[in-house]
Amino acid sequence: MQNKLILLISAIFLLAVIIAAVAKKPAAPCTENDFQKFLNSYEAQVIPLSKEVALAGFQASISGKDEDFKRSTDLQIQLNRITADPTAFARLKAFKAGGKIKEPLLRRQLELIYNSYLENQIPIVQLEALVTLQTQIEQKFNTFRAQIDGKTMTDNDIEQTLRTSCDPRLLEAAWKGSKEVGRLVAADILQLVKRRNAAARQLGFANFWQMQLQLGEQDPQAIESLFDELDGLTREGFSALKKTIDGFLAARCALPAEQLRPWHYQNRFFQEAPAIYAVDLDLYYKDKDLVKISDDFFKGIGLPIADVIARSDLYGKPGKYQHAFSSDIDRSGDARVLCSVTPDSYWMNTLLHEFGHSAYSKFNDRQLPWTLRDAAHAFTTEAIANLFGRFASSPAWMCDMSLITAAEAERIAAPCRDALRLQQMVFSRWAQVMFRFEKSMYENPDQDLNRRWWELVEKYQLLKMPEGRNEPDWAAKIHIALYPCYYHNYLLGELLASQFYYHVAEKVLGAADVQAQGFVGRPEVGRFFVAAVFKPGMRWPWNEMIERATGEKLTAKYYARQFVGGK
Ligand SMILES: [Zn+2]
Repeated sequence: MQNKLILLISAIFLLAVIIAAVAKKPAAPCTENDFQKFLNSYEAQVIPLSKEVALAGFQASISGKDEDFKRSTDLQIQLNRITADPTAFARLKAFKAGGKIKEPLLRRQLELIYNSYLENQIPIVQLEALVTLQTQIEQKFNTFRAQIDGKTMTDNDIEQTLRTSCDPRLLEAAWKGSKEVGRLVAADILQLVKRRNAAARQLGFANFWQMQLQLGEQDPQAIESLFDELDGLTREGFSALKKTIDGFLAARCALPAEQLRPWHYQNRFFQEAPAIYAVDLDLYYKDKDLVKISDDFFKGIGLPIADVIARSDLYGKPGKYQHAFSSDIDRSGDARVLCSVTPDSYWMNTLLHEFGHSAYSKFNDRQLPWTLRDAAHAFTTEAIANLFGRFASSPAWMCDMSLITAAEAERIAAPCRDALRLQQMVFSRWAQVMFRFEKSMYENPDQDLNRRWWELVEKYQLLKMPEGRNEPDWAAKIHIALYPCYYHNYLLGELLASQFYYHVAEKVLGAADVQAQGFVGRPEVGRFFVAAVFKPGMRWPWNEMIERATGEKLTAKYYARQFVGGK
């Protein structure tokens, strides 16, 4: 949705800006002094407006009122108008070409601000076409309901059926019904992909996928190598786990394992683990105050968040947004969380996750220029959030937090570890499919995409394509159309969470039992993250930050060590 909004906003304001920019001025000087002046005027516009945008967005998510959403959108439009300005972009280009900006922090700001302007320099007609197509696709996804045996089913109904039914005919019908949306949107998506590619080429990139990665400072080849590395590390382990899953599901559905088809795996895309281990964590949270637990935990690791909690909106209300997020309101310490806590393990995970984001924001370095005072990359803040979120299902953490006894922790240790491992392995194989499919699709949108999709699903997820299937099943995944070329970041966040985990357990805490650490009551954990991750912000490209913090560039090996076993 963010993408669509940004394009819409850019489209509306580019017109005004283009008209205003017709009268061009002669080339301006490009010294560091000149750039500092440019920065001053940029910050004077962007800083106060960004804060208003964040506050309005937070307010709208609480109230759900139309007028609040309208105000939030209007402000976002004003903000985007700034980076769509072609005159300012021409100046940024000149600063880059002039080669006189040498001071590291100035140079870094120039790179980042340049990139944020670059992606908005698309002619208005093209932007409008992109927005129209995206909106059209989004509406089709929003209004689509699968028809199963004459009954209308929502996505939740489908997932519920896939998880709970053992009726082979119903499972097949539900799965196939859910894929019908692919047919409705495939042609539109293909057009959108080609238009995105055309826009990217105009801006000097090989295709849209290349552009999205490069603007996020991700070297496409390096990211692909990382996915190859992870594939190599997880292939055998996943294959063994898949046999366990198949054995369980075959027994459950009373079928020989060879007859298992994608609809037997309890999820439309097999992106989440089937429930094959018996452990019910909700039991331990049902009469607990999860907010107090979070407060105590973060205080204990030296990242106090009582002020964040006080500003947050944590409980359900009519009209309120039902998911959760953390918002960095002003990059000056005002971070807040919005969610709707109920006492169960899902929300324990979510609270630890969101407050992890908040801590990253709150403990930034206020000496840094505003532009650099943000997470090194979207996936680096996800990594911190995932690292803490995972503790909600860690018996060691629950025991250290006095939520369960040591005996109980020992009793559930094995099924908890198995469940988390299964969840991570299943997700990582699915993320391989998404990453490779998107890359392939933007490289060649005219290939047989239906076939390409199933080649990847069979190779990485080890699922069997239903006999003779030739449908645009790839188009049924909403991210392909509306959140393009972003999915791989979810997996990068998981890899980095594991890399941070091992670094802290081994190097910061010097723990003997590395696998079972909860970091409870260890302020050196917070000190490490503040100094090595939070304060550096965007001062360095993300991989340099990771290398300085952990001694290694981002690698898949700790994720594999945590969830595959072995070295
Ligand atoms: Zn998150």
